[in-house]
Amino acid sequence: MRLRNVRGSREAIAASEFTINVPEDYKGKWCEVFSNTNPIHIEIGMGKGRFITELALKNPDINYVGIEKYSSVLIRAIEKRRELDISNLVFIRMDAENIEDVFEKGEVDRIYLNFSDPWPKDRHAKRRLTSRQFFARYNDILKNDGQVEFKTDNRPLFDFSVEEIPEAGWNIVEITYDLHNSEMCEGNVMTEYEEKFSSMGNPIHKLIAKRNMEV
Ligand code: SAM
Repeated sequence: MRLRNVRGSREAIAASEFTINVPEDYKGKWCEVFSNTNPIHIEIGMGKGRFITELALKNPDINYVGIEKYSSVLIRAIEKRRELDISNLVFIRMDAENIEDVFEKGEVDRIYLNFSDPWPKDRHAKRRLTSRQFFARYNDILKNDGQVEFKTDNRPLFDFSVEEIPEAGWNIVEITYDLHNSEMCEGNVMTEYEEKFSSMGNPIHKLIAKRNMEV
């Protein structure tokens, strides 16, 4: 993704009441951030945050943590967040490679990956958010019956994920290659990229993965 630098965004994020600046401090203690023990759902690579913000508005009994690597996009989510009177949505600016430093074993109930960067070169495969390396991290932080939900219009990345997830010891429990014309679309919340690419006529692919209980 090409990013325009937004001057002052890093400082504005650090000063925001909606950002957790030292998320490692809350490992195993995220209930303190939200002052309740509601389930925690996270989105990794949330971009400008439309998806997770809409979910937080719809589901006040779920706590949402949006994770994004770049300040220039995260700042847009924070600007929207300021206008909302909700208490179940916070953000972290970080590379998800270090996600196990932030959440305790089994602390997360659900992980959303939406339109993740494809990293088309083979030598970069381990950077893909659906690589076995990332699933090993999810394995650590997700509850036993937790799930990973992944949407993209990128067929090579989706095909890679369909092969990679069983290799990582997980099961794909639901799958569609045309989300908007499938039963899986019920209750679907669109992301910024989903809106853009589906309006260009691209079919949206989605899968839900759960841990293989025998592993
Ligand atoms: N999910 C949004 C959507 O569907 O509209 C944004 C999609 S955009 C293509 C992918 C986003 O993931 C970018 O904002 C990128 O910075 C972020 N990202 C990629 N790898 C990441 C990582 N390892 N940790 C955190 N964010 C990451």
